[in-house]
Amino acid sequence: MTDEDNVDIFSPEELGKISDVLSVSLVNRETNKRTPYVDIELMRGDITQLEVDVVVNAAHDDLTGGGGVDGAIHKASGQKLLGECLNLYGCPQGEARITGAYNMPSKYIIHTVGPVWTPAGSIKEKKERLRNCYRSCLVMAELQGLKSIAFPCISTGAYCFPKDIAAEVAVETIRDFFNLYVNTYLDLVKIVCFDSQNFEEYKKLLF
Ligand code: ADP
Repeated sequence: MTDEDNVDIFSPEELGKISDVLSVSLVNRETNKRTPYVDIELMRGDITQLEVDVVVNAAHDDLTGGGGVDGAIHKASGQKLLGECLNLYGCPQGEARITGAYNMPSKYIIHTVGPVWTPAGSIKEKKERLRNCYRSCLVMAELQGLKSIAFPCISTGAYCFPKDIAAEVAVETIRDFFNLYVNTYLDLVKIVCFDSQNFEEYKKLLF
């Protein structure tokens, strides 16, 4: 499936409504206390336009670009990104690799490879594979001392993950990360939705 096939996708006018950004502080589910200094922003938008320290790419495992958000990121960054990616010799599913962002306004790109949803097999295992992506990206950003990170809805496009399950995994993994690591460099996590169903699923979970 391509983004063009996705009838639910936001129009350019809707994507431009940055005022629709919703912001929430993380709350530790055990202590019911606010997790210090970390804000989550849910927004509709084109991730390639964001001025954050790092933008996450839902990449193909050969890191050579493709469709969806991967294609948009390579197009916005320019040819030099492909050159750097080729020197990385791919990325296994669930892991993360970091590159420069070149012509994009962010400083870096973290490339991660999501799981493909298939009807067969264990749902628990598929969720764990997606969880690995979010965790690897957060760890990578933290190791680099970065303060802000923007995630697309990994695996919910061509890789066909059900959007409700993917959103649940993303929110849980982000919460667990900041509950475990209290003194993080990261203080802002943006979740960037390109279609209204993803936006609504995250809204239900976060607000
Ligand atoms: P995957 O192969 O991991 O499913 P896709 O790129 O096909 O990756 O889709 C992942 C998500 O990224 C989808 O929800 C898709 O609508 C979204 N997306 C596509 N282009 C952009 C963009 N420019 N900015 C933010 N999200 C995007």
